[in-house]
This record gives sequence, structure tokens and C-alpha cells, in this order.
Amino acid sequence: MRRGFLLVLIVLLATSCTDGRSDRDTAPDVPATTQTADAADDRAERREEREGMVASQIQDRGVDDPAVLAAMRAVQRHRFVPDGFADQAYRDHPLPIGYGQTISQPYIVALMSSMLGVSAGDRVLEVGTGSGYQAAVLAEMDLVVFTIEIVPELADRASHVLSDLGYGTVTTREGDGYLGWEEEGPFRAIIVTAAPDHVPQPLVRQLAPDGRMVIPIGPVGAVQTLWMFSTDESGALLAQNLGSVRFVPLTRRE
Ligand code: SAH
Repeated sequence: MRRGFLLVLIVLLATSCTDGRSDRDTAPDVPATTQTADAADDRAERREEREGMVASQIQDRGVDDPAVLAAMRAVQRHRFVPDGFADQAYRDHPLPIGYGQTISQPYIVALMSSMLGVSAGDRVLEVGTGSGYQAAVLAEMDLVVFTIEIVPELADRASHVLSDLGYGTVTTREGDGYLGWEEEGPFRAIIVTAAPDHVPQPLVRQLAPDGRMVIPIGPVGAVQTLWMFSTDESGALLAQNLGSVRFVPLTRRE
């Protein structure tokens, strides 16, 4: 176990490209539309690309949770990226999704999903829907997914893509995820895919006993630390450092 975490840490530090700003800044702006091909159009070559992605980017870096690997093989990532980016969808880096935001690197999606400590049927909250890809991965893991996005256009687009692809069990909402989703809590796990500079206390309060939260924390414009918070029997919060990452910042509604 310790060796596994050490490996994860080394990989995270070695792959400076994790999620975000550096890639976002260099990537061209993108059209605000998504792939419109038929939902059944998951050609053999895309499936092969996914197999390769899972083997070389995810398993080789130590993620071995069967539910996560199966989900990463199943979700058509190329359907969640903007027009013109489908051929890059299975590469080892984040991609721009418009509005200055990014879809995370596949490895980071897999790592965060594997750290949630969840089982089929658990309720999970995602803060930062973005493209909807991470939510689809969680849905493929048979989780009951609630996801919040602060950019209305992205929330709208993600909810259409998710329903087009049959992820009807994902509940999406536009709003400020810093505040969580109190009416639907408590959650067995919370995954935050944008970086605040401190732990949002509303999210801590919405964690179920024994729940886990995976969240990047750090100042805007700097490398952040990916944390996994869990609670012990007394309810105290335990923190585990999962390494260095780069996410877009968590923004707040005025
Ligand atoms: N999980 C996404 C990628 C996240 S990018 C995917 O799979 O594609 C981070 C997202 O968090 C962006 O879309 C950004 O608009 C959103 N975000 C930033 N601050 C937020 C907040 N306070 N509440 C909800 N979403 C937020």
C-alpha cells in the first residue's frame, strides 16, 4: 500500500502536466459546441485508443481499481471534448473545453476516482462538472452522481452530452459548488475538480460519516496539492497528500 502511494506521488511529481492552466494557456480557443456524432458511433479505433490509454497511462502508473479501469474503458471520452479535439481525447494531457476551463488528464480522473473509496450505489458529489466526463466515469462505476458547475453554458452542455450518452442517472445543476448540495447530502464521497485555496467547510459538513473528499488545494496560479480527506471513528478529519497537481481555480459567485 505504502509503495503504491509512493509510486503515485513520484508519477504525479514527474508528470508536471496534470490538469490545467499551463495547458489551457497554450491551447487554442475552442468552439462552444460539442461532438454531435450519433451516440452509437464508438468506432473500434476509439475503443482501441481507450484500451491503450488505460494500459499505458493508468495501469502502468499504479491505478488498479477494477471498477475505475472498467469505467475508463467504457466512457467515450472523445464525446466530451469540443469539435476538432476528438483525435486528442485519449492523449496523456488535459484539453480545453471553452470558457477558460479544461477536461482533466485521464490519469488524474482515474487517480481521483480510485481514491474516493466508494462502492456501487454510493452517493457522490462532484464540484466542477466541466465537460461531464468525470461524472460519466463515476456513473459507469454505478454511483449515484450529483454534479455542480458554475459556468451556465458548461452546465447546460454537459447535461445534454450526459443524457445523449445515456447517463440519465447523473443529476446536474448550475451553481456555486463551494456551498455543496445540501438537500442531496450527506455524500459518501465528494470530488472537487477545481482548486480552492482552503477546504470549503460546507463540503466537510456534507460528508457522510466515514466519507472521503478528494480535492486539490492551493493558491491561484500555482501548483496545488491533491488531498484525500477522510474521517476517523471520532469524526476527526485525516489528510493524505496525493502529490502535486495543476487545476483551474475554484471560483465563487459574487
Ligand atoms: N471535471 C471536469 C473538469 C473540471 S474543470 C471534467 O470532467 O470535464 C473545473 C470546472 O470547475 C470548470 O468547468 C469550472 O467552471 C468549474 N468550477 C469552478 N469553480 C466552481 C464552483 N465554485 N462551483 C462549481 N463549479 C466550479
